[in-house]
Amino acid sequence: MDSFLVCRLRAKEENEIVSLIDQHALHERIRLEELWKGMLAVFDCIILSVLILKRALGIRDGHGWLRPGLVIPSLQVELPVDLLFQVSQFEEQFLRLGLQFSLNEKAMSVTHVPFVLKDKHLRDLDRNSLRNDISVFVQEAIQIFTEASAVAPIVPPIIMDWVATAACRGAIMFGDKIPEAEVGQFLTAGQRTSLPFQCAHGRPSMLPVAVLLPPSERCQVR
Ligand SMILES: [Zn+2]
Repeated sequence: MDSFLVCRLRAKEENEIVSLIDQHALHERIRLEELWKGMLAVFDCIILSVLILKRALGIRDGHGWLRPGLVIPSLQVELPVDLLFQVSQFEEQFLRLGLQFSLNEKAMSVTHVPFVLKDKHLRDLDRNSLRNDISVFVQEAIQIFTEASAVAPIVPPIIMDWVATAACRGAIMFGDKIPEAEVGQFLTAGQRTSLPFQCAHGRPSMLPVAVLLPPSERCQVR
């Protein structure tokens, strides 16, 4: 079955480990990091200048996911008064994440959402799930904005969840065949990721099955 790659990985010293690699999980990790980089590239640019942003658009997969996506007609999201007050304090930060709105005493009237959320809800029949997600997004973002220790740029978990889903959807499937000529390139790309042993959802992508003894200690058949 074309689902696992059997690899010999060099561990410390001389030992080699024979490992099964889940091709879907590893590809998902590669895609996650590509999408993430593409998203952050634009995120940084938004802070720098709109000019650089325009130049940066189109450079990578996942680009522009935090650009504002138009919502027609605008969406009323009711929030508790204290939360609305906090929202009013962070209008500029929300703008950088692609959320645009006006406020009244009871609700925010949302005209643009981060493009990632628009993408997520493109096929929804009603607007309640988008409304719920906006409310979660706002709360998560405020928590990030108010944490003194937060290191920029940080993106709310609800956005990261959808990036992981997108990485999964575009990844090679269990059972698909990777052309033999591309396996090496695929494994190298995996090796370059920051967490090659974890898929986008944090599950393991590799299973070690045996440790090979150094050649000098292997049985010699004469
Ligand atoms: Zn997956």
